[in-house]
Amino acid sequence: MTTLENDRRRFLKRAGTSLLLAGCGCAIGLPVRPAHAVQSCAAQTRESQAAMTPEAALQLLKDGNARFVEGKLLSCDLMEQVRSTGTGQHPFAALVGCIDSRASNELIFDQGIGDIFSARVAGNFVNDDMLGSLEFACAAAGAKLVLVVGHTECGAVKGACDDVVLGNLTQTLANIKPAVAAVSGFESDRSSKNADFVQAVADKNVELTIERIRLRSLILRKMAEKGDIALAGAMYDVHTGRATFM
Ligand SMILES: [Zn+2]
Repeated sequence: MTTLENDRRRFLKRAGTSLLLAGCGCAIGLPVRPAHAVQSCAAQTRESQAAMTPEAALQLLKDGNARFVEGKLLSCDLMEQVRSTGTGQHPFAALVGCIDSRASNELIFDQGIGDIFSARVAGNFVNDDMLGSLEFACAAAGAKLVLVVGHTECGAVKGACDDVVLGNLTQTLANIKPAVAAVSGFESDRSSKNADFVQAVADKNVELTIERIRLRSLILRKMAEKGDIALAGAMYDVHTGRATFM
């Protein structure tokens, strides 16, 4: 890709976010653009990140998952993005996801090098280390959104439902137990054999993880209250590839 083409793409990315901030893409003489930032293959810059609102950041991830589902990926030159981000990164969002091999955040939201922070642990919960990572992502590195991404058929959630005991995993699964306890009903079968129960726990786990971020990170709570960042959740379906935003 030529330098000129890169500049053009960067301009288009900035123009898109600027128009979002202006609230209207209908200025006389300008082409009408979508009412939200449009993602291109150009790496995020300090300017594009600064111009992005939390709502626009969330929309980029919604759009990215729609491209993924429709098979219309951006198909970017990743090495070009490596060259563009080698001296600095300006990701627009921080995602908390599971380690599941089917739920790679960059793939399922069609994001490239330098676009998102990706914090992953079995069961997509947060502990002090995850919270510290998210505080770095938002307060130090400028990300505008924290998205907690759960997924269907989660082995960690199933393990928590079944009270699995296995080395260090026992303690890991303890972080999901509050979600198991918080789901009422399903008295006939509260094990991993009950798919509806497992999914109810997965949904509750995303909800409680967002709540835990608010409760245990003063920095992120204040940023959210000021509107500097948004906290949101999503459930990824490993059968369809679709993320449902909560
Ligand atoms: Zn999982």
